[in-house]
Amino acid sequence: MNKLSLYTTKNYSLNFDIKKRKPKQIKFLIFHYTGMKNEKNSIDRLLGYKSKVSCHYFIKSNGKILTIVPDLYVAWHAGISSWKNYKFLNKNSIGIEINNPGHNFKYKKFSKKQINSIIKLSKLLIKKYNIKNSNVLGHSDIAPDRKKDPGEKFPWKYLSKNNIGFWHDLASSYLLNKRNIKINNIEKKKFIKNLCKIGYPMNKNIKSNKYSKMITKAFQRRFRQELINGIIDQECLIISKNLTKKLNKFS
Ligand SMILES: [Zn+2]
Repeated sequence: MNKLSLYTTKNYSLNFDIKKRKPKQIKFLIFHYTGMKNEKNSIDRLLGYKSKVSCHYFIKSNGKILTIVPDLYVAWHAGISSWKNYKFLNKNSIGIEINNPGHNFKYKKFSKKQINSIIKLSKLLIKKYNIKNSNVLGHSDIAPDRKKDPGEKFPWKYLSKNNIGFWHDLASSYLLNKRNIKINNIEKKKFIKNLCKIGYPMNKNIKSNKYSKMITKAFQRRFRQELINGIIDQECLIISKNLTKKLNKFS
């Protein structure tokens, strides 16, 4: 077996664009959870006509990986979404669904076997398509108004230690002292600006409290997983600053 191959079971979906894409169009890796109680039902949903949804890979609770749509066909997993200047990310991404009942049905920790498979598969795809670590994202990052997946139990920090995705480089003890400490309105604006620089979708409602709360929650699910309250505090601001600087260095 060569280095860029990994054993997966083929279990193809009917839901994909007929037109094949070029490997260089693949720029993003997007993680999801299934959000359903039952694993088999989630797989069936991704395969059948009616749902109009699919993904490229499915990671079962026992760590087994299914290929649902081959990489060079566009799968239907992201929906209305954006990141930086990219819109409707299906055409530029690979979607990975991970079995987990999600927030509506007793959200669970991802299993060790799932995490090991996520690491193996991601490493392979990142290398094969030359995907930037800053383009490894969750569904809630690119569609924060609609989605919570893969959620605050997704091991982003651990993945970043394995060179998958990105994380800040601040000590948790330092950050804990900044948690729940209020900031002023200018600092709040600064935070939202940082999120925009990182890549989070911004729109005309950017100044509304509702939008700010929603985008803050998406940020917290990703980078401050211990407390998801939609309130911008000093800890959130500091993390956003650190990430902005780090990502600037990358590009
Ligand atoms: Zn999703």
